[in-house]
Amino acid sequence: MLIPKTHPRAASLHIREKLVHGFRDGLVVEEGLLAHGRGEMFDYLIGEKTSKTSHDAINAAARALLTAKFPVISVNGNLAALCPREIVELSKATGAKIEVNLFYASEKRKKAIAQTLKKNGAREILGIDPKFAKRIPRLDSARRIVDRRGIFSADVVLVPLEDGDRTIALKKFGKNVITFDLNPMSRTAQTADITIVDNVIRGMPILIGTCKKLTKNGLGKKSKFDNKKNLEKSIITIRKNLRRMSNA
Ligand code: ATP
Ligand code: MG
Repeated sequence: MLIPKTHPRAASLHIREKLVHGFRDGLVVEEGLLAHGRGEMFDYLIGEKTSKTSHDAINAAARALLTAKFPVISVNGNLAALCPREIVELSKATGAKIEVNLFYASEKRKKAIAQTLKKNGAREILGIDPKFAKRIPRLDSARRIVDRRGIFSADVVLVPLEDGDRTIALKKFGKNVITFDLNPMSRTAQTADITIVDNVIRGMPILIGTCKKLTKNGLGKKSKFDNKKNLEKSIITIRKNLRRMSNA
């Protein structure tokens, strides 16, 4: 379906289409579509734009990725469907490895995601070869499997659209966790070290641009970043928007 650019919800409908294509191509599962719906609702509440608060988190994230010894980008079906090119670009801009890591694991889906990433220029994709599988302690079943050459060895992990249990397990495992999560109240948002409250579709290109700029101009002086305070600001934005909507 072609959506006219003038449609008031053109951007969010375009994002939905990407998810639906990802579902048809075997990258996304039904649960992924539902998780997206949850995200859409919060996107509406934050005003469907990248706030100053999110820009601050993006700056902190870019700095953390660039100063990491071993950064890894964890990729699930939704992320691969929404921004495959940006995953590869961010990996190139930061030297981060790419690892496919699924909540609902399936070899077929892993391969479909890896193929999409390859089509978008990725060379090395971790998380596919069972020879390198390792377990994260304190996490149940298939969800604890990570790649020895990737997340298992990483110091900084970018886990966009992640489930809370996994984020908590990664934290307990000593990782510095960065996430994209539209819900500032989710367990992932509240547990991560740096939470970018923004749609990955909007935030990933800004994160890539920021990494490139910092690499070109130097990191400069480190500014303080407090994730809890930053999340609080996003919650205040939601409260203000709700008040404005109910007064309209
Ligand atoms: P948690 O387990 O962290 O408490 P949850 O159970 O509410 O969160 P999950 O389905 O586990 O939700 O995680 C998916 C998260 O991804 C949700 O918080 C959702 O708001 C967010 N999300 C969905 N789509 C996007 C998107 N395009 N960009 C950024 N975040 C998104
Ligand atoms: Mg969850």
